[in-house]
Amino acid sequence: MSPIDKLTQLFERFPGIGPRQARRFVQYLLSAPPGVRSELARQINALGAATAQCKRCYRWFTKDGQASLCDICASQGRDQSLLFVIEKDADLEQVERSGFKGLYFVLGGVVPLGVDEPAQYVRLRELVKRAEADHSTIKEVILGLSATSEGDHTRQIVAEALRELSTQNGFKLSSLGRGLSTGSELEYADPDTIASALSSRQ
Ligand SMILES: [Zn+2]
Repeated sequence: MSPIDKLTQLFERFPGIGPRQARRFVQYLLSAPPGVRSELARQINALGAATAQCKRCYRWFTKDGQASLCDICASQGRDQSLLFVIEKDADLEQVERSGFKGLYFVLGGVVPLGVDEPAQYVRLRELVKRAEADHSTIKEVILGLSATSEGDHTRQIVAEALRELSTQNGFKLSSLGRGLSTGSELEYADPDTIASALSSRQ
């Protein structure tokens, strides 16, 4: 396979990128100055060496020495009683802009409709473990999933997985309230909308 076809195939794996867009990326790289290609290759290589996945919330962060926790999880200034469960890292960045001061757990996606083993698709076991480990400090787990059918489906599965722990340890399970329009993902919601959905959570 030619480097053109190979690279096109790799770009096609990116979220939201189809064959035509992938081909355009390759065309751009072919016509761009050589410095652009070498810089891109260098930054892609640096990505693995410079980043790590947080052991507590599972977000990717830029490593500072041997730290295994991201700056949010390591901070003493965050509200330890609130745990915000989100789908992906991009959601976390949007929620941060809304002024939320609690902690996070990145689920790693949504559960597709009609599958038998949800834990194959999202970090369900890891979330239960986290809620168990932090049961003495957590007072509320906020389920911040997308207002889509897969998001609703995932919310039900996560709520079910946490229900027993929630009863045993007395923490509240809540969901984002009004404000997020149907079909919307947190990633694309503006910070004011997220803040309003947070304040009307139930
Ligand atoms: Zn973290």
